[in-house]
Amino acid sequence: MEDKIYDVIIIGGGPAGLTAGIYVSRARLKSLLIDNYAIFGQAVSADIIENYPGFPDGISGVQLVLNFRSQAEKFGLKIISDVVVLINYTEKKIEVKTDGKIYSALSLIIATGAKPKQLGIPGEKEFMGRGVSYCATCDAALYKNKTVAVIGGGDTAIEEALILTKFADNVLVVHRRNKLRATKILQERAVANKKINFIWNSRLVEIKGDKKVESVLVENILTSVKTKMNVDGVFMFVGYHPNTEYLTNILKLDENGYTITDDEMKTDRVGIFAAGDCRKKLLKQVITACSDGAIAAFSAEKYIDKLKEMEYNR
Ligand code: NAP
Repeated sequence: MEDKIYDVIIIGGGPAGLTAGIYVSRARLKSLLIDNYAIFGQAVSADIIENYPGFPDGISGVQLVLNFRSQAEKFGLKIISDVVVLINYTEKKIEVKTDGKIYSALSLIIATGAKPKQLGIPGEKEFMGRGVSYCATCDAALYKNKTVAVIGGGDTAIEEALILTKFADNVLVVHRRNKLRATKILQERAVANKKINFIWNSRLVEIKGDKKVESVLVENILTSVKTKMNVDGVFMFVGYHPNTEYLTNILKLDENGYTITDDEMKTDRVGIFAAGDCRKKLLKQVITACSDGAIAAFSAEKYIDKLKEMEYNR
């Protein structure tokens, strides 16, 4: 166990965690950010981020998060890679357990984000990495002149479908309704793109192949007719699931596993704050993750100040 007690430990190194890191470092709190080995959260899988202010030509997710990281390190934030498995909570001290170590802190900022949801259909697990993917930015180049299916109708699905058109010849967007959920500007781009074809009111029921994906079975929800479609890859974008499994015994989570906070990012445990995509909220974007991170850090700073003042007056 480290003998040091940090003022704040931040768990998660995406936009929310790193923004919190910039703020706590500038507040001169004794702080540590623990990130797992997967690099820097969901934002890095964005080929280009066009709605983060300050970058009129857009910026890649990787570059933006690397910028956040170097900014946080410039102010002295200590960042380590480790996997948090458990939190031990008492009102005096919070212990963060990783595979081999225990770190102690007076307060905690949870910013562990979310991971892509799986559909749970036959063939999905079997062909993962062999034609089934959750990241077009990572895998699109493997599908030059091929046909791929994209599942979902949200911002992620449409952005990733557009990325896929840079390589694939035919991108089939399979959506369970006849209306996309994605932002209008993305819808316009997708509709105008000749390589994108929409399969409306339909759901994927099975992924088939031998050594790799060769076809999918698509069911029309209105007619129940199932059609086999030959595809070389399947990209799933049906939403996200929060990375909060290690918190189930510590914090109140909503029915989908998201942390619940007030406007100051306080959870139901005194001294524990949450920020970013792991938090139940209206809009999950890089900019709202950063905003959460700044507020969580500010709240943690006030909390630490109060603790230290009480200690001083004792
Ligand atoms: P999302 O908005 O939750 O959309 C998920 C899509 O998958 C929806 O179209 C949904 O259909 C569909 N879906 C869900 N479960 C399904 C199932 N079991 N079978 C078939 N289809 C299913 O998720 P997201 O697109 O990943 O976006 C997550 C958040 O990140 C959103 O807040 C989004 O705005 C944000 N985001 C923003 C940007 C950007 O600003 N550029 C980029 C990416 C993501 P229905 O529409 O019928 O519900």
